[in-house]
Amino acid sequence: MHLRKRVLVTGGSGFLGSFLCERLLDEGNDVLCADNFFTGARGNVAHLMGQPNFELMRHDVTFPLYVEVDEIYNLACPASPIHYQYDPVQTTKTSIHGAINMLGLAKRVKAKILQASTSEVYGDPEIHPQTEDYWGRVNPIGERACYDEGKRCAETLFFDYNRQHRLRIKVCRIFNTYGPRMHPNDGRVVSNFIVQALKGEPITVYGDGSQTRSFCYVDDLINGMIRLMGTADEFTGPMNLGNPDEFTILELATKVIDLVGSKSEVVFKPLPGDDPRQRKPDITLARETIDWEPLVRLDDGLVKTVAYFEELFTQGVI
Ligand code: NAD
Ligand code: UDP
Ligand code: UDP
Repeated sequence: MHLRKRVLVTGGSGFLGSFLCERLLDEGNDVLCADNFFTGARGNVAHLMGQPNFELMRHDVTFPLYVEVDEIYNLACPASPIHYQYDPVQTTKTSIHGAINMLGLAKRVKAKILQASTSEVYGDPEIHPQTEDYWGRVNPIGERACYDEGKRCAETLFFDYNRQHRLRIKVCRIFNTYGPRMHPNDGRVVSNFIVQALKGEPITVYGDGSQTRSFCYVDDLINGMIRLMGTADEFTGPMNLGNPDEFTILELATKVIDLVGSKSEVVFKPLPGDDPRQRKPDITLARETIDWEPLVRLDDGLVKTVAYFEELFTQGVI
């Protein structure tokens, strides 16, 4: 018999969280979504509100939370530089106090807990592609540090609760992920370029556009997270989840312009501080442990993402 699990998703009304809630509900679980709506929106989970197994609560993870659940996915944290740099102290608090509270909760109710960590723990990496045993090169006092160091310390807390309190933990390091329900104006490259192309505005490439990223479509990422949660108790990660297909930012700009059929031209702007030169996951561990690899090619994922933003454009929302 399939036992229905009670699953808490913090940050569940954000971009990734909303897709995760959807999938967990589809698999027959009770889902409690806790979010302070800093970057998330009720609209992202509006289509789930009618379902009896779904509950949405306004809650800030920097405060304690007393609920009874079997599994916790800890996603609460603004993810784009514009948002996490808006109130950097709050960003660090969200990662660290949030981790402590969710780990304390997991400890009390003996829940299994997964942390949404990030490729940013590798900083501006000296090895390429990045494997999980690479310790990273993060500037601890730079403008991205509130996010990077917050996430690094959250990982520390997860592993210490595992060693000290035998908690069942899972840590995934997520690489750039894109798809529908990304914020239209959070400054991330995929949403920026699509919105600019739709509006016929210049496509803003920072630096000379030769820096690289590898972009994972949201459905692939969610599959990976759910599989990681399902691994044996001894397996903790950290595990890279991302798409190893690497593109320069200039290549991405060209793809988006072609796909939208836009007349936008490319303009070059200064590169932001501490912007990593290149980023690409080594996903050998995920391939071997959870038999996972991304299935959606960038071109196909972009089509779906453009369709989402086109709809917002037609409605006059963007
Ligand atoms: P998002 O901004 O859409 O989602 C984050 C959610 O957390 C939002 O709903 C926000 O309102 C909520 N939140 C923020 N602070 C909170 C707090 N103190 N208490 C409760 N809720 C809070 O971003 P996303 O892209 O969906 O990212 C989700 C998680 O995945 C984040 O932890 C992020 O660091 C991680 N991640 C994302 C990516 C990516 O490319 N999207 C890459 C690496 C890591
Ligand atoms: N906590 C929570 N929900 C719970 C249990 C704990 O939010 O159900 C929080 C609480 O704020 C606590 C933190 O988690 O401070 C860490 O809990 P832990 O048991 O590890 O430490 P302690 O309670 O001894 O500080
Ligand atoms: N970028 C860009 N134009 C934009 C937004 C971003 O050229 O309008 C660049 C940015 O400098 C970085 C890359 O695209 O090199 C990815 O940026 P994003 O903020 O999406 O993610 P992250 O830097 O966190 O990987």
